[in-house]
Amino acid sequence: MLTSMVDLTIDLGALRENYLALRRRAVAGVQIMAVVKADAYGHGLLPAARTLAAAGVDYLGVGSLEEGQILRQAGLKLPVLLLLGILPAEAPGAVAADLEVILYRQDVAQALAGAAAAQGKTARVHLKVDTGMGRLGLLPGEVLPFLETLKASPRLEVLGLVSHLAVAELEDKSYTLRQLEDFQALLAAARARGWNLPLSHLANSAALTDLPETHLQLVRPGIALYGSPPNPRKPPPVPLKPVMSFRTEVVQVKRLPPGSSISYGCTYTTSDWCDLAVLPVGYCNGYSRLLSNRGEVLLRGQRAPIRGRVCMNLTMVEVTHLPGVKEGEPVTLLGEDGGARLSADDLAAWAQTISYEIYCILGAANPRRYLGEA
Ligand SMILES: *Cc1c(COP(=O)(O)O)cnc(C)c1O
Repeated sequence: MLTSMVDLTIDLGALRENYLALRRRAVAGVQIMAVVKADAYGHGLLPAARTLAAAGVDYLGVGSLEEGQILRQAGLKLPVLLLLGILPAEAPGAVAADLEVILYRQDVAQALAGAAAAQGKTARVHLKVDTGMGRLGLLPGEVLPFLETLKASPRLEVLGLVSHLAVAELEDKSYTLRQLEDFQALLAAARARGWNLPLSHLANSAALTDLPETHLQLVRPGIALYGSPPNPRKPPPVPLKPVMSFRTEVVQVKRLPPGSSISYGCTYTTSDWCDLAVLPVGYCNGYSRLLSNRGEVLLRGQRAPIRGRVCMNLTMVEVTHLPGVKEGEPVTLLGEDGGARLSADDLAAWAQTISYEIYCILGAANPRRYLGEA
């Protein structure tokens, strides 16, 4: 099986160090929710959650009821928030597993209240407000009337208001500060009506590292935990270590004469003699076809450019500048090699996307190997 020729490694020690660096950056006393949705951005939900729990994280944020249930079945006792909310039919499961829920729908509130009553429990919710993300959440004008309806549901405990920032990673913080201002005005208005809202939050990784005034009671870093800066054009203000690396080995080397075409579509033709290395990695491994004729890999600590189209299981790179490359030599597609490094942001730039998507897709498409104790 060719997929055994790929090696996707997750360094849990680096994950732990990134968490500790972010912890030092957070305003004292602020809780940290590690965002481990989407299988911990492709790094593996349980190994990531266990590592972060052992390092002292306060909260976990997941994307689905199923992810929350997996954490509970594994014995993790930390508070867990379902960041996307739930469907009404999922309310009994969420209450049974003691999972907190992002709320923005009246029918979900009723389903949660009903499930809590049936199970003799209280359902904890965080009310989501759309302050400018244009995604999930109540519009600001809907928040106080919604809260009013919840007064009839003593089984629901509203822990706080929640919002999400749209451009916190940009140099220009004006939009973000306007979101913060609107959020705080809503918080004040709700508190004036008797809501305590002890756990209100809106800071992602970028806001955690750049804007202490957004930290409030809790911060929700994701991407920075996995070692990438929220803004690839700006070095992160805290030291971050890459957690994921992706390697393979050369399966064939050949010397092509001038005028030879490489791969499907004949999109690359050699102008001179060309030493070509064939790699057993392709888009079925999450190695995007957009890297065709654009991306680079590392061999012997040096960059080698992709020639022609990335195929389903194979990719070709030119190694003419590296004499004597042989079958079996290690190749780094993401990570460090001999002092050189390819970051997720490098791959993302070639593939016209962001580091987040590189991690999610590589992690989902390949078996993972873990370094360090989870
Ligand atoms: C994904 C997510 C985060 C984390 O964002 P990063 O940019 O990865 O730090 C925080 N909050 C919510 C609601 C999210 O969906």
